[in-house]
Amino acid sequence: MATQNNVDRALFDEVMVPCYSPMEVIPVKGKGSRVWDQAEKEYVDFAGGIAVSCLGHCHPAMVAALTDQAQKIWHLSNVMTNEPALRLAKKLTELSFAEKVFFANSGAEANEAALKLARRWAVDNYGPEKSEIIAFQQGFHGRTFFTVTVGGQSSYSDGFGPKPSDVVHLPYNDLAAFKAQISDRTCAVMMEPLQGEGGIISPTPEFIQAVRTLCDEHNALLIFDEVQTGNGRTGDFYAYQGTGVTPDILSTAKSLGGGFPIGAMLTTTAIASHFKVGVHGSTYGGNPLACAVAESVVNVISQPQILAGVKEKEQLFRDGLERINAKYPIFSEIRGKGLLLGAVLTEEWHGRARDILQAAGKAGVLVLVAGPNVVRFTPSLVIEDVDIQEGLLRLEKAIASLT
Ligand SMILES: *Cc1c(COP(=O)(O)O)cnc(C)c1O
Repeated sequence: MATQNNVDRALFDEVMVPCYSPMEVIPVKGKGSRVWDQAEKEYVDFAGGIAVSCLGHCHPAMVAALTDQAQKIWHLSNVMTNEPALRLAKKLTELSFAEKVFFANSGAEANEAALKLARRWAVDNYGPEKSEIIAFQQGFHGRTFFTVTVGGQSSYSDGFGPKPSDVVHLPYNDLAAFKAQISDRTCAVMMEPLQGEGGIISPTPEFIQAVRTLCDEHNALLIFDEVQTGNGRTGDFYAYQGTGVTPDILSTAKSLGGGFPIGAMLTTTAIASHFKVGVHGSTYGGNPLACAVAESVVNVISQPQILAGVKEKEQLFRDGLERINAKYPIFSEIRGKGLLLGAVLTEEWHGRARDILQAAGKAGVLVLVAGPNVVRFTPSLVIEDVDIQEGLLRLEKAIASLT
């Protein structure tokens, strides 16, 4: 079975655009928090894609929603609406501050919609001078040209010619810098309510609260990018609900589809009114298959016992990682919230997060990194406790092999 029709890793280099460098293994099957590769080697999945497979692999509720919808209708253009999209939008408004939903196919597209809406809102209400967008260093918002420009890593946005302009980056959690920058010219502030790709960094309560207050003072919109933090990841349905700060626009994707591509932008009726007919759109956005799957995901994830379970499983991870660290002291800190956790490497291990990822894969557990110094865990929100234990055991073996 291993190289059936020569579908192996070498084929990647032959036919795929080289913007990724995937691992050697090719998983072919998944169930819950276990996956199997072509050689039938089994892995515990602590990655869940990248914070995507929030119900694990092939969850029965998702399989049922997908196959049921597949027998009915797959696609309608936005010239018509469809039942799954309407049901999902209704549910998302019930579960959040939002009154209106725009569907896209990815996180970047949801953020692109958010940024365009903010700019249009400001032009309509205050004129074209109010165009400044404030974002944060190490922030990540996707790979379209606008979102990569707003993201805080110039290595991702440089080298493509002139960028969308009037975007400023400040250090995260630096209130003085923020106060000094924001003005009546500020159109919007875009931030993750817990930085993911940037290294699993939580905002201080004072910072996130002050950002909200200053946005209000200067009539600027606050956009929370919850592509990674959303849909139960932090133990709240959306992370903002655990901060006491409500944004004006929220983007969500990744776990929303549980493995099926979908993204959404959530906002209020007043702000949404600036996206008049024809101002924005998407061919696949609101696709019935995607919305049916996402609806099944949201139905499971929004249950209080599932959200409470996220907090319990967080503790199992923290305890297990501390136990490993007692034997092999390589972590200086375990940070993050819910099942969006980062184990920060000590000085001595700096730059070696990817080595740990590779060794973990060999030992049969899939983990992620968040930069060179942080090992990241974003497992299924319903991962079984035995899978957590087994995965941590394998991680310990991997670390032992490196020490
Ligand atoms: C992954 C991610 C994105 C981009 O989502 P895509 O679906 O890859 O476009 C945007 N923002 C954050 C915070 C993310 O983690």
